[in-house]
Order: sequence, then C-alpha cells, then structure tokens
Amino acid sequence: MVQYTGIGTPRPNMNEDTEVFWQKLRETKKLHFQQCSKCGTVLHPPRPACHNCRSFELEWVEAPTKGKVYSYVVYHRSVHPGFQTPYEVVLVELENGARIVGNMLDASPHEIEIGMPVEVVVDDQVFEDISLIKFKKG
Ligand SMILES: [Zn+2]
Repeated sequence: MVQYTGIGTPRPNMNEDTEVFWQKLRETKKLHFQQCSKCGTVLHPPRPACHNCRSFELEWVEAPTKGKVYSYVVYHRSVHPGFQTPYEVVLVELENGARIVGNMLDASPHEIEIGMPVEVVVDDQVFEDISLIKFKKG
C-alpha cells in the first residue's frame, strides 16, 4: 500500500494518446482499454494504431475488473519524495490478458505474491481531477 508524504505527489504522465484513457476512468469510474476493431487485440497503454495489425480503427471497451498479480516490485528507497517507503508497484494481468501497473490498497508489500487474485479499484482520493488505478485483494 503506497502512502503519500504530501510533498508534490507525482501525477500520471498524460499525452494526446492517453488523455481519453484518463477521462474515461474519471467519468465512468471504470477501467477502459482500446480494442482493435479489425483483429480484436486489446491495447494498453493507449496508442494511435493497433500493434498487431496496424489498423487505426480502435474502440474503447470496458475492461474486466479482476486479474492476478503478474509481477511486482517493492521500493525500499523512494524514487520520489512524494512516496513513503516501503511501497509496492504491482503489474496485474487482467482477465482479458492486458497488463497494467498500480499500487495495492489493502496489502502491505510483504503480503503480495505472484498469482495473487486482485480486483481493480478506482481511487479518487489522491487528486481532485485525476483518478488512479489501484488494486485490492480479490
Ligand atoms: Zn488489430
């Protein structure tokens, strides 16, 4: 579980490719991914074209809320003064095969295991204008 020190909590890096992702997360409180209309590939992070067939015909679809920890790291030395150590970053593989990073809401770093079932949580508490993806034990 990451805890913030209040010293300039870093904001997600947003650009023209990822802006819709963050808007949908904030407005719907649900995770959405791009999906290729031609070949069905689910894309994350967002991009202008499908990495499988190069089509520009992409649509936004709601993502599954359940997944498993694919990998994780525990930081004992913070990369930013906004984070209290120790904290973890988990890489979660969702049920559709897409992988996304986030922090756990309800698990300390020593409780996390590869393969652990987790659920997506949309965290509106950190920023007034941006929601973050977090995970809880599933
Ligand atoms: Zn495609």
